[in-house]
Amino acid sequence: MDSSAGTESVEQFRARAGAWLAEHRGDAPRDYGAILPPGLAAEGRRWQETLFDAGFAGITWPVEHGGQGLSPDHGGAWITECALAQVPPFLNMVGCVLTGGAVMAFGTPEQQAEHLRPILTGERIWCQLFSEPDAGSDLASLSTRAVRDGDEWVVDGQKVWCSNGRVADRGILMARTDADARPHKGISFFLIDMASPGVELRPLRQMNGDAEFDEVFLSEVRLPADALLGPLNEGWMVGMSALTNERGYIGASGISLKRRLDSMLALGGDLDALDQQELAELWIRGTALWAMGRRQGPVASVLGSVAKLGTTELMFDTALLRSSLAGPEAMLDGDAAYGLTSAPGARIAGGTSQIQRNIIGERILGLPKEPKPT
Ligand SMILES: Cc1cc2nc3c(=O)[nH]c(=O)nc-3n(C[C@H](O)[C@H](O)[C@H](O)COP(=O)(O)OP(=O)(O)OC[C@H]3O[C@@H](n4cnc5c(N)ncnc54)[C@H](O)[C@@H]3O)c2cc1C
Repeated sequence: MDSSAGTESVEQFRARAGAWLAEHRGDAPRDYGAILPPGLAAEGRRWQETLFDAGFAGITWPVEHGGQGLSPDHGGAWITECALAQVPPFLNMVGCVLTGGAVMAFGTPEQQAEHLRPILTGERIWCQLFSEPDAGSDLASLSTRAVRDGDEWVVDGQKVWCSNGRVADRGILMARTDADARPHKGISFFLIDMASPGVELRPLRQMNGDAEFDEVFLSEVRLPADALLGPLNEGWMVGMSALTNERGYIGASGISLKRRLDSMLALGGDLDALDQQELAELWIRGTALWAMGRRQGPVASVLGSVAKLGTTELMFDTALLRSSLAGPEAMLDGDAAYGLTSAPGARIAGGTSQIQRNIIGERILGLPKEPKPT
């Protein structure tokens, strides 16, 4: 890697990254977005190794943990250049964004030394064990328990919708450690080895035909004391910081959507006036989101909810238009049908569109809090 990278301007970095990607994009798996499909895990690991060796892993992470020590603007430039080159910017979002962010913010020096570098080298894939059959939007009602037993924690419960769980080496887990506390209190945040005895995964099939999620059953899973990340019973704070990072990243990925819309514009001349109008409307929304994303960068803040909502709703509307343009073919196997059946998931993952609207209403616009029925 160029040793002058530490003093490199964003534009110099962008040019260097773009040139490197032009040469190496053939080594990358297809751009799979935020969620690593289990079938691409081996290719994804190799790509992450290549990025690490070339000095393009962990653009904003500290050098001591294997990162490049560059600014959030450099990080944004990397994501943009990868979107333009149509390659994944890293192996998996749960490892590189959620876990990395949480371990850097809340981990002890020992936890940071143990967990951060293997994320960047591609050695360890991470999954997220938050949602449960009775706890999704209302995550604070989760009931998986972790009970202290001597030097260990014993975990029992069930998680669901665990993306790429089957190929994950480690997981970030939220579990209840004080059953008597109020729902948001008494939750702790753990780092779990997915090979631990008592962890059982069962794939779930989606309507697009893929099986990217797993149900995860945890039966008397024993975790060492240092599996706890952050303060005991304060896991809500750690989890919310991880989810804010996730939304910030999903919102920043609007750039790849803009690229898709640009390529749809090429169809414009062949469309009737109504479809042209719809395409123009989507393109304008996409361009506004892209400009907002560029201004904000992949920085975690409550504004991530605006970007996440805007991006995933636009993805959904774009998939609807693509399938409408494909006509009856959209009902058969193929890209349009796959896009149509995949699109609703993005509106749900990382907190549903309705939940983002609640956050925007309450925390950005200052509207009254929604009433709690109970
Ligand atoms: C593609 C994808 C990947 C995912 N990956 C993971 C993962 O790796 N790990 C993980 O832990 N989870 C994952 N999830 C789960 C995801 O976080 C949950 O599906 C999501 O939080 C919603 O929870 P739920 O499915 O239980 O729906 P519910 O919370 O039951 O919601 C049902 C409906 O009610 C609406 N609703 C609920 N509460 C409110 C409210 N207060 N105001 C207005 N409307 C409301 C919701 O918007 C939704 O439309 C993933 C989901 C998807 C689709």
